[in-house]
Amino acid sequence: MIDLRSDTVTRPTAAMREAMARAEVGDDLYGDDPTVNALEARVAEILGKEAAVYMVSGTMTNQVALRAHTEHGDEVLMDVNAHLVRLEGGAPSALSGLTVRPLMGKRGIFTAADVNAAVNVRHSFVLHRTMPPQRLLCAENTHNVGGGSVWPLDCLVEAAEAGRAHGLSTHLDGARLWHASVASGTPEADYAAPFDSVSVCFSKGLGAPIGSALAGSAAFVERARRFKQVFGGGFRQAGIVAAGALHALEHHRERLAEDHRNARSLADGLASIEGISVEPTQVETNIVRFDVEAMAGGEFVDRCFERGVHLLPGGKRAVRAVTHLDVTADQIEQSLEVMRGVIGEFSEDRGQ
Ligand SMILES: *Cc1c(COP(=O)(O)O)cnc(C)c1O
Repeated sequence: MIDLRSDTVTRPTAAMREAMARAEVGDDLYGDDPTVNALEARVAEILGKEAAVYMVSGTMTNQVALRAHTEHGDEVLMDVNAHLVRLEGGAPSALSGLTVRPLMGKRGIFTAADVNAAVNVRHSFVLHRTMPPQRLLCAENTHNVGGGSVWPLDCLVEAAEAGRAHGLSTHLDGARLWHASVASGTPEADYAAPFDSVSVCFSKGLGAPIGSALAGSAAFVERARRFKQVFGGGFRQAGIVAAGALHALEHHRERLAEDHRNARSLADGLASIEGISVEPTQVETNIVRFDVEAMAGGEFVDRCFERGVHLLPGGKRAVRAVTHLDVTADQIEQSLEVMRGVIGEFSEDRGQ
């Protein structure tokens, strides 16, 4: 099976398992786990922040960030297709009592003008207490539903500054910030600089089995540790998994360029198949979103699965494929053959 569902399906490499087996551990809730402490320090360093805290998932780091920045009843501004609101189980309302104000980004990327337009007008005639207090602005880089799109740095800085000018705190969902950096050559810390908090994943693309980190000022991270505990996320000997994340950070970041090349050749190949619509120039990182014109996306995915290629339906006609550490350039060619065959057979079926 060639598994293109997500970059989370990777298995730890032998060297990673070795690092995990050798990891020194302690009780992390007491701050005693040296491997977790080393991981947190390294992430803070890469992101140019004072501190970081390791958690079980990107959903947890994002939702802890929302909770730490806000009070119940507050409003948070984010792209209409943000992972935070679309793909985290309704957590902003369930866990933090938040209202989301959607911004109409293009492939997940909005502008300072979009932020300015969404901010409540300040005027003495306006009854401000009728409106939910606007507290936080969130951005996502790369943008998942947007197809792995990379924010231009100046656009990201301007949008965050617009939020700040209106007194909003700022959070960056950087589950795939590594991919944005490798694709653009912009250091992670430059993307992180305009944000009060940044979430990054080790289990997406980097190939670690578990975990994400949330970085920010020492005071913010201290407050985040409290909500990590409230949400049931306290770790004990987590150094075993943190060692996998540390190994991934040091060994698997630069190679993401290979996944980006594979994604682009997948998109180029798909563009040559009649009945599939895709825009290869929009494939900037490791996510390929395309439309199947001939049949429902779900049926296409089923037919590919029967032939050994595992994809995800992303809508009525839409399909998602993601490249990662465990797929080779040869397997991309094989999966293109399978997809071409599925479309071809379908057209024949219809012709008879
Ligand atoms: C996957 C993802 C998350 C959540 O990460 P999990 O570890 O799966 O909870 C958050 N944000 C983005 C943009 C993601 O793609």
